[in-house]
Amino acid sequence: MDEKHLSKRLATVASYVPAGARMADIGSDHAYLPAALALTKQISYAVAGEVVKGPYENAVSEIRGHGLTDVVKPRLADGLDAITPSDRIDTVVIAGMGGTLIAEILERGKQHLTGVHRLVLQPNVGEARLRRWLMTNRYQIMAEQIVGEDDHIYEIIVAEPSPVPFKYSDYELMFGPHLLEKKGPVFTAKWQDYAKRQRGIIAQIEQAQQVPVTRIAAMKQQLALVAEALDDDKN
Ligand code: SAM
Repeated sequence: MDEKHLSKRLATVASYVPAGARMADIGSDHAYLPAALALTKQISYAVAGEVVKGPYENAVSEIRGHGLTDVVKPRLADGLDAITPSDRIDTVVIAGMGGTLIAEILERGKQHLTGVHRLVLQPNVGEARLRRWLMTNRYQIMAEQIVGEDDHIYEIIVAEPSPVPFKYSDYELMFGPHLLEKKGPVFTAKWQDYAKRQRGIIAQIEQAQQVPVTRIAAMKQQLALVAEALDDDKN
């Protein structure tokens, strides 16, 4: 992958960045995403924020190498501290981290989200926690995608601030309100695999001398939700 050939995962993320956006890519690593969008003139401005020096330096050389220094600004900063009001950022992308870390970055940097109309988030795990943060902080989930790439399955969550609170059920937080509507083969593969692993764990811990009854009950309850989502009562 490079700035000219985005992975399927990053290309899906990119497809939700509005044309002409002023975006911040937080945890940008090589800055592939903002560089790709700037090279194809799909964005008007970007901040590439990175907290670790090595990846930040990669981003700097990527941006310089493509003559993009006027459009893409690399910043060595923690989370949303990479953004200043004069950047007039309207779209924030956070991709390739755990959902809990993404929620923490959003929580810590809330003051920088004024004026941001769209969040494009791609958690590697912990999607339910991230959706819960969005719900608690008055975001509406506008779209979701699930893509498979190199033996991994990724969810992309697009959210926008809402004047009215949105309530999602635990079921929707777990599986994604939009993903539940369309499901499809990647969704099915993800949750079938999850159910298989959970059943293996349950079988193992049922052998313990002191069986953790409450934990097993909670896991079985989750398995029942998976069965419901898969329209399949054999889980
Ligand atoms: N966003 C790119 C992608 O999706 O391909 C890179 C993902 S890479 C796995 C995660 C990056 O996020 C790493 O470069 C890491 O240093 C950076 N990161 C982690 N926590 C961060 C934070 N609090 N602020 C800025 N960057 C962070």
